[in-house]
Amino acid sequence: LYDSDGWIWLDGEWLPWREARTHLLTHTLHYGMGCFEGVRAYAGPQGTHLFRVAEHTRRLLDSTHALDMALPFDEAALIDAQRQCLTRNGLRNAYLKPTVFFGAEGLGLRARGLTVHAMVAAWDLGDYISPEAASIGLRALTSSWARHHVNISLCRAKTNGHYVNSMLALNTAVKAGFDEAIMLDPEGYVAEASAANVFLLRDGALHTPEVTSCLQGITRDSVIRLARDVLGLEVRERRITRDELYIADEAFVTGTAAEILPLRELDGRHIGARANAPKPDVPIAEDSVTANLQRLYRRVTRGELGDDLGAFESWLTPA
Ligand code: PMP
Repeated sequence: LYDSDGWIWLDGEWLPWREARTHLLTHTLHYGMGCFEGVRAYAGPQGTHLFRVAEHTRRLLDSTHALDMALPFDEAALIDAQRQCLTRNGLRNAYLKPTVFFGAEGLGLRARGLTVHAMVAAWDLGDYISPEAASIGLRALTSSWARHHVNISLCRAKTNGHYVNSMLALNTAVKAGFDEAIMLDPEGYVAEASAANVFLLRDGALHTPEVTSCLQGITRDSVIRLARDVLGLEVRERRITRDELYIADEAFVTGTAAEILPLRELDGRHIGARANAPKPDVPIAEDSVTANLQRLYRRVTRGELGDDLGAFESWLTPA
C-alpha cells in the first residue's frame, strides 16, 4: 500500500504518498487511542461525489470529542480535505480514510502535551463486492469474542483500538471456514458483525440492535431511512437474540465497504426462505426486501436518484 503514486493530506499539507511517514514513537501506534472513518466516493451521472461525508465527518468529530482529543480542524476543513483528496489523486470511485492520531511527543498515558494530527488518504475502490457475492451473501459464525461494553470503551467512537476485538472475531471465524463473525454484546444479545451492522426481517418488519455495543453505522441509518421512507417498512431498534437471526425471514449486514450483504447462514442454520434450499449458495430472491434495499442503496450511492429518491440528494457532496 505504501509504494504508490498520489498525495496524502496531513494537517493541511499535501505529502507525496511515499513520503507520508510518521515517527515510530507515535503515541497512537503504541496504545491505539485515535479514531478514523471509512468514507466512499462514487462516480455518478453528474461526476464524482462523496456519500454522506457530512455524517462521517461529524462522527469523526464526535469520536475525537468523546476520546478527549483536541483536533485543530473543523468540519469544513475536513470535508474540504476529503474532496481535494479525490481531485488531487484523480479518483472517481474511491475509499477514503480520514484518521486522527496523537503525535510522538511522549508515551505517557496522561497524553499531556501531545499534538493531535489529522490525515486523509484515499485510493481507488470500484465494486468492492462482486454482484454474485452480493447476491449470495455470507456464512457467519456467532463469535466467542464479545463486542465492547459501554463501560469498557466508548462504543459511539470509531476508535482504532476497538479493531483488535473486530480482528479477533473475524479471524477466528475465517480460520474456522466462515466468511464473517456475528458478535454478541457482553450480555449476550446480538451486537454486529466484525465491521458491519446487522438487520433481520421477520413478518415484514425490520429489526436491528439498538446502538449500545454496536457502532452507529451510517449505512445502518441509510438503510433505516430507505426502508421507512421508500419501502414503507416498520423498523425497530431493540435487543435481539441470536436465535432470532436463525429464524428470521431474511438477514443482512450493512457497512460503507460491504454496503448491504445478505446473511445467508448463521451457525449452520440457513436463514429464511433458504431453510429448505438444497444448496446454500443460491442468490437471494429478486423480490426479497434485502434485494430491494440493495437496489435502492446502489442507486442512492451512485447518484441515480430519479423522482422517487430525490429526497436523498443532500447525501451526495460533489468532489
Ligand atoms: N460496525 C463496525 C464495527 C464498523 O467498523 C463499521 C464500518 N465503519 C460499521 C459497523 C458500519 O458502519 P458504517 O455504515 O458507518 O460504515
